[in-house]
Amino acid sequence: MFAKKTVEDFNFKSQRALVRVDFNVPIHEGKINDDTRIRESLPTIQKILKDGGSVVLMSHLGRPKGKVVDSMRLKPVAVRLGELIDRSVLALPDCVGADVEREIFSLKPGAVALLENLRFHAEEEKNDASFAKSLAKLGTVYVNDAFGTAHRAHASTAGVADHLKPRLAGYLMKKEIDFLGRLLANPARPFVAVFGGAKVSSKIPILKNLMGKIDKLLIGGGMAYTFAAAKGGQVGKSLCEREFLDEARAILAEAQKRSVHVFLPTDTRTVTDVEMPDTLKIFPVDCIPDDREGVDIGPETIKSFSQALGDAKTIFWNGPLGMFEHPAFSEGTFSFAKAFANSSAVKVVGGGDVVSAVLKSGVADKVDHISTGGGAAMEFLEGIDLPGLAALDNA
Ligand code: AMP
Repeated sequence: MFAKKTVEDFNFKSQRALVRVDFNVPIHEGKINDDTRIRESLPTIQKILKDGGSVVLMSHLGRPKGKVVDSMRLKPVAVRLGELIDRSVLALPDCVGADVEREIFSLKPGAVALLENLRFHAEEEKNDASFAKSLAKLGTVYVNDAFGTAHRAHASTAGVADHLKPRLAGYLMKKEIDFLGRLLANPARPFVAVFGGAKVSSKIPILKNLMGKIDKLLIGGGMAYTFAAAKGGQVGKSLCEREFLDEARAILAEAQKRSVHVFLPTDTRTVTDVEMPDTLKIFPVDCIPDDREGVDIGPETIKSFSQALGDAKTIFWNGPLGMFEHPAFSEGTFSFAKAFANSSAVKVVGGGDVVSAVLKSGVADKVDHISTGGGAAMEFLEGIDLPGLAALDNA
């Protein structure tokens, strides 16, 4: 059960809700390329408005590093949000200060305001106490719906909660923790974890934390070559973190001890140079010639990985199985995505590039949960307490 108080438990009538959202959306020349994060915040905003409250939204965008950067202003987000909720959204020129306070204190119930990019002030990421206090002045209650930054103890995710009560989780925060928490607490089994992506080193803590919970572990992508090398294979020029060979062996040994069935690729697509896709040739993953590097899983592996999902009741997928951004090396990831989508298991995707791989493969609507927070999802699944969650009131 979700352990924090949520917006569902509170009536916002006549309240001014200070809501931390994650509106860190891709913007190019003033145009928003993907508004998913804005749309994901709508249920929380609409609940507050329906109760008769007003909404003061705060977010970061990009990495302005404590300075005003015009291309990182939140104005285009305010415009898009206004279209989505069909009412005007007041875009403020700053996030703290007397002028902002004047505007915010005169908001009527039903009004929505968006503060300017929090990270225009260096104090935000430093969790500066007086900056947090200035933010807190703008609301009468605090809501955090920014799962994507919940792993950061910043002024808007942590410090601000010292000054406002109640401190509530928004619907997106709850949904994320419900799905990800179920993977750790009570997954329907068999539970299959699928890892890919570039680096073994960044995935070791999560692999360790999941080890007691999963029944099968599928390892593809760049990670697979470190495991193949750890087993004595020749991986040519493939991505291989030699300093983690012992860790990879330890993970394989732990899996054996816990009767976790590990699937490594058997065949792999290789090229002599990623810029020369016409050199593509399939080799056994442990016999890659010295002048070649692995760029995708091979057809035999696609088949065995897909079959491994057959009896799954829960699947968590993190990391593409090849360099899917390149069309010539995307077949492994996209074919596997289809098998994944066809599984009747509870399907959760999270932690970075795999999200765009699943979106690109066109099967997103068949996935139960696609996490909006890369780093936050990873840290949560590593078993680390998220400061943005810890700061909220217990249920
Ligand atoms: P991650 O952020 O760890 O999930 O890594 C995602 C990145 O891994 C993507 O940009 C992929 O292109 C990359 N990747 C997947 N397979 C390979 C591979 N065989 N060799 C190198 N990089 C890979």
